[in-house]
Order: sequence, then structure tokens, then C-alpha cells
Amino acid sequence: ATPTAVMVGTGVGASQGVLIKGGQALESTHKMNCIMFDKTGTLTVGKPVVVNTQILNNMELREFYKLIAATEVNSEHPLAKAIVEYAKKLTEDKEKPVWPEAQDFVSITGNGVKAIVENKKIIVGNKSLMLDQNIAIPVGAEDMLAQAEGMAQTGILVCIDKEVAGVVAISDPLKPGAKDVISILKSLKIRSIVVTGDNWGTANAIAKEVGIETVIAEAKPEDKAKIVKDFQASGYTTAMVGDGINDSPALAAADVGMAIGAGTDIAIEAADIVLMKNNLEDVITAIDLSRKTFSRIR
Ligand code: ADP
Ligand code: MG
Repeated sequence: ATPTAVMVGTGVGASQGVLIKGGQALESTHKMNCIMFDKTGTLTVGKPVVVNTQILNNMELREFYKLIAATEVNSEHPLAKAIVEYAKKLTEDKEKPVWPEAQDFVSITGNGVKAIVENKKIIVGNKSLMLDQNIAIPVGAEDMLAQAEGMAQTGILVCIDKEVAGVVAISDPLKPGAKDVISILKSLKIRSIVVTGDNWGTANAIAKEVGIETVIAEAKPEDKAKIVKDFQASGYTTAMVGDGINDSPALAAADVGMAIGAGTDIAIEAADIVLMKNNLEDVITAIDLSRKTFSRIR
């Protein structure tokens, strides 16, 4: 393509809310034949809501959520926000809820959070986090996790003082249009893959819903980048679409990193293309532009 064609392509992109950071990004998009999607906030709306709670000890719902909210209020994760939102609804002062101070807050990227709240050791996160912390998962909790996952929800374990005290089920629906985008990609002979830090059950359920056959779950940020590199090594020109800090190594590694505009700054910085309107249809817009720039105009 001529520099003028590239300028036209990026200009049209910008006017449609697709920010393309240069000609190389357009060229790689044109060649791209394998696209990896993060799940939370990318395939899904990214505004998860609490839909179910199971408490395994005799703690009151409000007390249970006070302890979790005090911990999660320190996290930027969409799941954390869902939990805090739900906890707010249970408090007396919904406008200005006051959570107890959390000490020693630690965020374990891709796994969960922990802190000390009112002298209790609180751990909130997935199964692998509990296993890392040597916490046994009771059968009742396992059952509820499986049930949530089967419905494409994320089950979060809550541990209080070394005991699993409950499970929170969180639902984050697919973005409208996600299914159509995947079927258009299929018709363009582009392979779609789900790459997520979430568990296998939820990941498989979402993939099935959206029409993607290949799923890689429980992937840490480094794993996501390695998966991109593995596909590149087997001859694919790759794209990665993501929104989180956890996606940035993969966004940087991919031939084309595409960040959701509402995503974190680090993801936007690591990406080659930014989808300002936060929709997945603009993945197709970017492909169209690249094809117009690189095949029709020579
Ligand atoms: P994704 O790749 O789907 O965006 P992440 O890698 O951010 O997911 O997180 C993976 C999993 O780690 C989540 O599904 C959740 O089980 C757990 N997790 C991460 N952060 C938190 C948090 N702040 N609170 C509870 N669980 C969390
Ligand atoms: Mg995400």
C-alpha cells in the first residue's frame, strides 16, 4: 500500500472510532488469520453482577458481604466491582457505605485478593488461589462452583480465617453482537480462540454460547502471551483482543493487539489498534479497512 492509502485507511478508522497506530498494524490485520479473545470485558459486557450467594457457615449475609467488600474495594477488577456494588445494596447507607479498614491488602493478578479485615483473614478468589493458600474446598462449595460454571457464571470462593465460608456466583453476559462477529470471522476463514484467566467450566460455557471451538482457560498473563507466540510459531498471523492489564503481554506479543477503549491504560498502550466504541463489530471494521487498504488500492 502507498503511504497515502495507509493515511486514508487510518483516517477512516479514526472517524469510525477505530484508532490504528500506523501502517504496520493495518498490514498485519490484513494478513491475520487467527484471533484470540479475552473473555471478561472483551467477549462479555464486563459489567458483571452478583446473581447468587451461598454461605456455608452461619454468618449473616450482610456481615459476609461487609468483610468481602472491605477487601474487594481495593481491587480494580470488574468482579471486585460487582461484589462491592452488591454489598452496597445490603448496607444501611447505600450512597456512602463505610467499609472497615483492610490491612495488608494483596492483589494476586488473575487469581483474587486477600487482606485482613477486623482481625479476620479474608481471601476472595478462584480455586487455584485457595489451593495455593492451602485451603481445603468443601464439597458444598465445589458443587456450587460447578453449577455456576455450567451457567457460564463465575463462582468466587470466599475464605474467612482458613475456612471456605461461601461462594458468590457472578454473571457477565455476552456483548450483543459477539455471536455475529464470530460467525463473520468464520466466514472470513479466521480462526477464533477464547483465552481467559477464568476457569475451564465458565470459559467453555461462554465459548459455546458465542460459537468458538478452541478454548484456553486458567491462563496467567504470561500464559496468554505464550499462547500467542505458540500460534505464531505454528504459522498463524495473530491478533489478540483484550481490555485488561492481564492482557497487555499478549497484546504486545500479537501481530495485532486490539484493545477495548474502555480497557485499562496499560492495555491501550500495548495495543496496535484501539476499539474506542468498545464493541466487537469494530474488529470487522478494522479487517475491512485493512483489506481495502492492502488489496484494492496498490
Ligand atoms: P479474565 O481473563 O477473564 O479477564 P482474570 O485473569 O482477570 O480474568 O481473572 C481470572 C480469575 O481470577 C477470575 O475469573 C476470578 O476467579 C479470579 N479473580 C481475579 N481477580 C479477582 C478479584 N479481585 N476478586 C475475586 N476473584 C478474582
Ligand atoms: Mg478482561
